[in-house]
Amino acid sequence: MSTSRPSNGNSEHHSVFRLESVWVSDAEDKLYRDASYHVIGYYPSLDKAIAAIRFKENDYYKNEYTYAFLIKEFALDNEIGDYAAPISVRSYDMKGKLVDECLQNYNLINEFDGRNGDAIRFHIGDIVEVLEGRRLFRAIVAALPPTPEDGFSGLDALDDSYMVLPLETGPIDHLHIAPTNTFPLQHPLEKVYTNYLHTRLLIFQGRIAEANMSDICEIEGHQYLYNFATLPSKSICRRCHRKWRADYSGDLINEEIWHEVDRFENDPRKDEELIKAWGSHN
Ligand SMILES: [Zn+2]
Repeated sequence: MSTSRPSNGNSEHHSVFRLESVWVSDAEDKLYRDASYHVIGYYPSLDKAIAAIRFKENDYYKNEYTYAFLIKEFALDNEIGDYAAPISVRSYDMKGKLVDECLQNYNLINEFDGRNGDAIRFHIGDIVEVLEGRRLFRAIVAALPPTPEDGFSGLDALDDSYMVLPLETGPIDHLHIAPTNTFPLQHPLEKVYTNYLHTRLLIFQGRIAEANMSDICEIEGHQYLYNFATLPSKSICRRCHRKWRADYSGDLINEEIWHEVDRFENDPRKDEELIKAWGSHN
């Protein structure tokens, strides 16, 4: 007899359902919010765990910091501690509405055939909110979970995930996030961040020619190169290739020294040579 298969919620004798409340900090930091998890209780069926969400109005576990609820199913004859792998995971929003469910057993390897297309809630390029460990942050979807039609073999529960690029500065890196931890945007994202994420996606996809590198510089600042270390007269951004000329003449104590220009030379190819020459010294 197997007790380790995903449950439809009626397996009262073999599984226990752990309801957790997810809290997040105020959004003081534009890029990240802190997340914490609080166990509300263990229940003998999924229905009873869901009921515990719905009947917890004005409860300690449901306050202005509550972001979502997770229900994780564990086999009763197995570990159920902080590091135990659940049999199934479901996430719910503040109103107790199902967000998503991952029903394959995290204890089993090579047991995932793919996620049905109609259970894939996002598209590539969508901006989402992502719970990853102790952080909640915005990200752009870069790849979708595999479907049965993709015909991959050897997939397991961890492959049921969206690949996302997080809203963070620095080298572009991707993360794999379970659908139960991938949420719709709660509030509109400022355009400067939306542009930034879309440009990072284009770069990640290798579509550099379509990418507007100024979107990256808007957030991360320009990567200035100068023609001289002391008293430079020309500057260029290594990333977005915007160019500036210095004007040291006149009384510039309270004025900008640097003025943006379209090009330094009449022949734009000479500008490109300058970028290469300066770049090699940095
Ligand atoms: Zn730039």
